[in-house]
Amino acid sequence: MERTFIAIKPDGVQRGLISEIISRFERKGFKLVAIKIVVPSKEFAQKHYHDLKDRPFFNGLCEFLSSAPVVAMVWEGEGVIKYGRKLIGATDPQKSEPGTIRGDLAVVVGRNIIHGSDGPETAKDEINLWFKREELM
Ligand code: ATP
Ligand code: MG
Repeated sequence: MERTFIAIKPDGVQRGLISEIISRFERKGFKLVAIKIVVPSKEFAQKHYHDLKDRPFFNGLCEFLSSAPVVAMVWEGEGVIKYGRKLIGATDPQKSEPGTIRGDLAVVVGRNIIHGSDGPETAKDEINLWFKREELM
């Protein structure tokens, strides 16, 4: 069954949005198959976002992701990669539709509270980066 990697970033955790975000995925019908709370190192954050290493915001993004606890999760279900991104909404919360997580709960792109894998390859790579095999249900 299809799986994706979802992370609640430090701003989402600090703002008390863990249960709100989890319940949106649960109510849709997706299944939580792994979850943990971690403070990633900056090197780990750079690995996670390696595709963006040439962007001007890369350093700030990795500093932020490694600054405080992150809730790392794996969600399972038919179409969960694409539909998970739909639940999350556009990268820039100013452009996310109301009804999406970022559209309802965030304002600026650098504090958009949640990450979701953008395709089958990244989903696989990110799940393997963040979780050991024995941590997955
Ligand atoms: P994520 O990978 O976090 O799920 P995304 O796939 O919607 O987000 P990406 O293009 O992968 O968007 O960007 C990764 C993250 O980098 C964004 O979630 C956002 O926090 C940050 N980011 C993207 N564009 C900008 C920008 N112009 N300025 C500052 N931060 C940005
Ligand atoms: Mg992305």
